[in-house]
Amino acid sequence: MKKRGEADSEGAWSGEKAASQGSQSGSGFCLSRSESHRASWPLRSVATAWFRARFTARDIYEITGEALARRGFQLLLADLDNTLVPYGVPLPDEKLKAWRDDLAAHGVTLFVLSNNRHEARPRIFSEALDAPYIGHAGKPKTHSFLKAMERMGVTKEQTAIVGDQVFTDVLGGNLAGISAILVEPIRLAGNPGRYLRYAAEVPFRLLSKKGERL
Ligand SMILES: [Mg+2]
Repeated sequence: MKKRGEADSEGAWSGEKAASQGSQSGSGFCLSRSESHRASWPLRSVATAWFRARFTARDIYEITGEALARRGFQLLLADLDNTLVPYGVPLPDEKLKAWRDDLAAHGVTLFVLSNNRHEARPRIFSEALDAPYIGHAGKPKTHSFLKAMERMGVTKEQTAIVGDQVFTDVLGGNLAGISAILVEPIRLAGNPGRYLRYAAEVPFRLLSKKGERL
């Protein structure tokens, strides 16, 4: 193991280099700004690869059929709870149906991909929305993503997922190789765990917001 201040082949974590850049003061040792950046890079690259959404939007209504079609998307997988409607809302309203119609008018199929474990919840909601669906989807595991694409006969490049959670919707989308669109949860109230989860997601939400706009 290299000692502190000992130069390695790449010069990383090098006290000598830090000193030459004027970042060593007294007996204390600190990384230069560039080295600190380099040291954090592996973590950043993992965060970017797995937890960063390609796109962000405030809610689903910011996502238009025209924008999706322009990007070449033909299938929009959508999380149900807190993305399409708040938890506990059993049926889609007219606004949501009109949004589905806008997507369809641009050749984009809305497909509900829900982790809800109650068999009836995604089934009743999706049937009322006249949308295909998979319930108890097991996101972020990829099998339900792949199954949905296979069922609809589209490629990964033609598919996107929209959801309100980083560790299921965004991670699952990235693992499946499709584009992820992260929206804000509709309502956090009702379960303290949702606030904790949202707090844990904040760094990745900030990272995602630096990405592309639809
Ligand atoms: Mg959700």
